[in-house]
Amino acid sequence: MIMLSHVQQIRILKEEQKYVSDYARLTAMRVDLTLDNAKQALVRVEAERNADCSPEHIRRMGQIVLDAHSIQDIGFFRNGHLVCTSLGGLSTPIPQRRPDMDLGQGYSLVFAVEPKLFRSKPLVELRRGNYGVLIRSGRLIDVVTDTGMTLGVATNQGHVLELSGTAEPQLIRALLARQNAGIGDRYVFASHRAAGLAAFAIVDREPAQTMSGSDWREMLPLSLVISTALIGIVIWVSRQQLSPEKTLELAIQKREFVVHYQPIVELSTGRCVAAEALLRWPQRKGEMMNPDTFIPLAEATGLISRLTDLVIEIVMKEMGSLLRNDRHFHISINIPAGDMESGRFLPGLAAVVRKEGVDPSQVWLEVTEGGFINADAAINAIKAARAAGYQITIDDFGTGYSSLSLLEGLPLDALKIDKSFIDAIGRDAAKSVVAPHIIAMAHDLKLCMIAEGIETSEQEAYVKEANVQLGQGWLFSKALPSEQFRAFYNRNRAAAQLQPDFT
Ligand code: C2E
Ligand code: MG
Ligand code: MG
Repeated sequence: MIMLSHVQQIRILKEEQKYVSDYARLTAMRVDLTLDNAKQALVRVEAERNADCSPEHIRRMGQIVLDAHSIQDIGFFRNGHLVCTSLGGLSTPIPQRRPDMDLGQGYSLVFAVEPKLFRSKPLVELRRGNYGVLIRSGRLIDVVTDTGMTLGVATNQGHVLELSGTAEPQLIRALLARQNAGIGDRYVFASHRAAGLAAFAIVDREPAQTMSGSDWREMLPLSLVISTALIGIVIWVSRQQLSPEKTLELAIQKREFVVHYQPIVELSTGRCVAAEALLRWPQRKGEMMNPDTFIPLAEATGLISRLTDLVIEIVMKEMGSLLRNDRHFHISINIPAGDMESGRFLPGLAAVVRKEGVDPSQVWLEVTEGGFINADAAINAIKAARAAGYQITIDDFGTGYSSLSLLEGLPLDALKIDKSFIDAIGRDAAKSVVAPHIIAMAHDLKLCMIAEGIETSEQEAYVKEANVQLGQGWLFSKALPSEQFRAFYNRNRAAAQLQPDFT
């Protein structure tokens, strides 16, 4: 009983954390979009022939301000002084301030600029060359939220550019230091990097503690729908013409996706015995969009199945030879609940596995327990997949709604202990009581275990001591592009002097 109440409490907090993370990410996207919009205005004004504060120059600057959504004014500097803006010439030029932050590629930011030609609260200036544009900083966090949430954007050093509500400075410093997401005594918070800045979201922990599990579950679908829709809207605005669904569909058609591989090691020997295939969507600016952002959109629009097929195809092409050369090596592929229930992907997978000469037991399918709608259908498909020789792993174990009942009814091979339980080891006494229960349960059921999200040697030592067989996490390696993964695998083998080099 004690164990269940802990599990339940952690589930609620985990969901809340995910919700807050979604908003931090949306805010980061809003920051990117706003800065992009301002950069486009700078690029346009730099291309102007007139740069002389003539009426034509001032009129053109005014036109660019009108066309851009996020900027208030454009200023033109000469010899270190502001000499005119889109609103007119200055009788007394104003000395240029030194930028507060360098953004690279010639861009920099100046904080808390008080405009001289119009009344406004302090603005943020984006500058390049002889021009600076003034941005309404409220625009940076212009994301629709529920009322209890505080959104903000700050530099990594803790200088707050904009905040939608109130937040204690220590909390902001703490969340910037933690980078991703966290649960404090009183708050659940998350931050996300954007153009050298950090966007963050904070909610009070109070409601989660007083809310029963079922209340929370009722609220959850709505919050997910809202955040998924918002992600869609932001992506749509950023691409300007295409709907989010169309953008994603085109990207699938153009095969814009790549797969990265995160090593999985045998904890007793340190050997790299497997890899998890993780999808990435490269963006125009060379950044990678993480699956947490686009998988919900793919699921909501039904495009997810095409992504599953694409991942299977890429993985088998890139990893086929490694799998043939090392029959003890396996690859883990994430299968969304809908595909697992229908088993739709199985014939295609069988064909490519046969073509590549890979043994089906070298393919592990990771499914997330929370996603099944029709458990009976899922059980049948899982049985069919196992009959075909694949191994079935339950991903993010401990975070779904039906962990225990599911375990009894499902024919499984492995359990992946969710990162939140590994995070708690050595850090959070209350939460770390759950991990031993999960581990004991998996031992009883004779399931292989994979500890996910191992970041410290303390966590590694803990799971090793508890006889967890496999581990995955940044302590060993982040997810790597296929070539880098092969290099990692070769180095790992050479270090262990276990087998001749794989080439
Ligand atoms: P997951 O399957 O639970 O994948 C593990 C996630 O944890 C990955 O995030 C991985 O990069 C991250 N991770 C691993 N070790 C550490 C660590 O030590 N510290 C931290 N902070 N993170 C760690 P990623 O790649 O962003 O994937 C997120 C989720 O997106 C995945 O969770 C999975 O549910 C989904 N996903 C990824 N690729 C695919 C795919 O090809 N198909 C489907 N359907 N879903 C995918
Ligand atoms: Mg996974
Ligand atoms: Mg996982």
